[in-house]
Amino acid sequence: MSQEEQVVIVGAGPAGLATARAYRENGGSGRVTMLTPEPYAPYNRPPLTKEYLRGEASREDLPIESDGWYEENSVELRLFTSVAAIDRERRTVTMDEGEELAYDVCVLATGSEPIRLPVPGGDDPDILTMRTIENSPAFRTASERETGPSSWGAALSDARRRRPSRCAALR
Ligand SMILES: Cc1cc2nc3c(=O)[nH]c(=O)nc-3n(C[C@H](O)[C@H](O)[C@H](O)COP(=O)(O)OP(=O)(O)OC[C@H]3O[C@@H](n4cnc5c(N)ncnc54)[C@H](O)[C@@H]3O)c2cc1C
Repeated sequence: MSQEEQVVIVGAGPAGLATARAYRENGGSGRVTMLTPEPYAPYNRPPLTKEYLRGEASREDLPIESDGWYEENSVELRLFTSVAAIDRERRTVTMDEGEELAYDVCVLATGSEPIRLPVPGGDDPDILTMRTIENSPAFRTASERETGPSSWGAALSDARRRRPSRCAALR
């Protein structure tokens, strides 16, 4: 790829970061831009329901790479930036606020979001979902929550067991 090639990675989770790393490790010399609405560089989410939830890990333990990695690898990380549209003919992505960014290669690494239960009351704001760093303290401080019988439910139950509070897994 030429120096001018534009690689735009939509989503700065582990997959987006792995894409940027693999590109560089395989000799990619184009301009790499990673976009994420989150205020943080790519971080590991599993501790959010485990060590971080239990208070055994801090925010500083979560990032996958050091702050310096992005500059060292010439990867531009744009936080607080959400992509609203992609124009495949013009090869541009449009951010929420209207700015356009041209690409030669666009990688979608946007992950997935938890769905809310499609039942009456499922939109109750007291029913929490867990995806981001911000969600974890809400779980940590909640005194009583009900969780499903998934591995996450088990992790939450485990965290609850270690921190005195009540927790129920529903089938
Ligand atoms: C609480 C929790 C615990 C987990 N525990 C485990 C575990 O124990 N074991 C395990 O194997 N897996 C676990 N997982 C799953 C694992 O974290 C995911 O598989 C992994 O994060 C997926 O990485 P990803 O990069 O594909 O997506 P994500 O990590 O979801 O990252 C996607 C990124 O894209 C961004 N994005 C979305 N839409 C846009 C847009 N329009 N514009 C710009 N950016 C956008 C998002 O904000 C996010 O930053 C857990 C996940 C969570 C949330």
